[in-house]
Amino acid sequence: MKTETKQSVMECLHFINGEYVKSSNAKTFENVNPATEEVLGNVAIGGTEEVDQAVAAAREALNGEWKNMPLKKRSNILRKIGDLILDRKDELAELESLDTGKPLWLSQKVDIDRAANNFYFFADYMTTVGTEAYEQDDIAIHYAKRRPVGVVGLINPWNLPLFLMTWKLAPALAAGNAAVMKPSEVTPMTATVLGEICKEAGVPDGVVNMVHGFGETGAALSSHEDVDAIAFTGETITGTEIMKAAAPTLKKLSFELGGKNPNIIFADADLEDAIETTVRSSFINQGEVCLCGSRIYVERQVYDEFLDRFAEKTKELVVGDPFDADTKVGALVSEEHYQKVLGYLDIAKEEGGTFLTGGKAAEGFDKGFFVEPTIITGLGKDSRCVREEIFGPVVTVVPFDTEEELLEQVNDTHYGLSASVWTSDVKRATGFSGKIEAGIVWVNTWFLRDLRTPFGGMKRSGLGREGGAHSFDFYSELTNITLKM
Ligand code: NAD
Repeated sequence: MKTETKQSVMECLHFINGEYVKSSNAKTFENVNPATEEVLGNVAIGGTEEVDQAVAAAREALNGEWKNMPLKKRSNILRKIGDLILDRKDELAELESLDTGKPLWLSQKVDIDRAANNFYFFADYMTTVGTEAYEQDDIAIHYAKRRPVGVVGLINPWNLPLFLMTWKLAPALAAGNAAVMKPSEVTPMTATVLGEICKEAGVPDGVVNMVHGFGETGAALSSHEDVDAIAFTGETITGTEIMKAAAPTLKKLSFELGGKNPNIIFADADLEDAIETTVRSSFINQGEVCLCGSRIYVERQVYDEFLDRFAEKTKELVVGDPFDADTKVGALVSEEHYQKVLGYLDIAKEEGGTFLTGGKAAEGFDKGFFVEPTIITGLGKDSRCVREEIFGPVVTVVPFDTEEELLEQVNDTHYGLSASVWTSDVKRATGFSGKIEAGIVWVNTWFLRDLRTPFGGMKRSGLGREGGAHSFDFYSELTNITLKM
């Protein structure tokens, strides 16, 4: 596991009971750099045997030193993990960009910094957690004793690999659990390093484990008899599979799933700010952020002006080598995903859409999966490009005349993750935002996060919430104890 330059290769092994191990059958697959199509290294494929070993190591660790470790010591270990992530920031950012195709500056600024911050946040938060207590007249005192859920499986996608893995691992450890991580097969590298970092920070062997592999590996974890909870981020359809696999053992489930998020621009908005942020919320990370606004609705009075200025700014985005400092949009994460996104561009054409920008693979690349940032107009509300999650640098823009008509379109979706509303009218900001069926609504901003707030989606965008007390509750069980007075 050595990574010195962007050409170097990394072998990704499982991390079980504090050691890096191969699969018992030695099976591997090749990890491909999406910007160059070069092989970055081999990745072990975990089967039921490796999942069994990892779960057994986690179960065993729950009865060891971890069980009675003083709160302060555990909190310090989390803090140390954050420090070690930052110590290795350059290396981790490079690995993340090699794996995902995203610009290096973005990996540094968002993925790695926020990964460290997840540990810092929960290191602090865990020391403040209280519990419920009720005095029942002079009869009894009731209090809820908190304990870890047990062995938790953490299954993650490829778009923000380390950031999202740590968003689950940090609260899981803060609440005293032992974990088995299953990173995305598409982006296995930073998670691999995380095993080593946890060990160096003082996490006892077996508390943090990781098994690489495809969907089957995640499925083995989801159906495992001795796993108590699954926290999953990924596609909605995969969530349904996990729910089925977990049903016989009634595991606790936390799901962060897909989205088709509306971005609403009223005529009274600060258009400059709205356009600048919309370029970011549409195309950052190649549009591969679950929170990206992919359905843009603009009040008719400013529709033409918005489109002109939005298209102009979008055309300025440099699509290119993730390691070039000028690059704003890198490569899509894999050939499979690239083909999926290009497929939607064909659908948009068939459906009668007009490309204001983009609409095709980016030119000038012999290798790699680059797509031009694409703005589509002229599509109706039943268009597949308006209804389905594309998860690439592709947005649709539609004008609206009334709030009633707008609300109907905004909520006419199975998804309910996030939305943005741009307006200078405070009454509208609160009134209209409250009617949107989404777990998160930003007003005059996007992606502004406070880790104490509830994060997650409604409808088919998720189950439960993450963040602060919400994460802590998911990773804890409560026993109500009644003391008779
Ligand atoms: P995916 O569902 O294909 O894969 C996610 C993970 O699940 C991978 O590790 C994969 O190996 C595993 N997996 C696949 N099949 C499985 C099965 N049957 N049982 C158990 N595990 C299985 O998702 P993806 O393509 O990696 O990620 C993109 C999706 O993630 C998008 O839909 C995006 O919106 C969503 N996402 C949501 C959030 C959020 O917070 N709501 C954040 C990021 C990404």
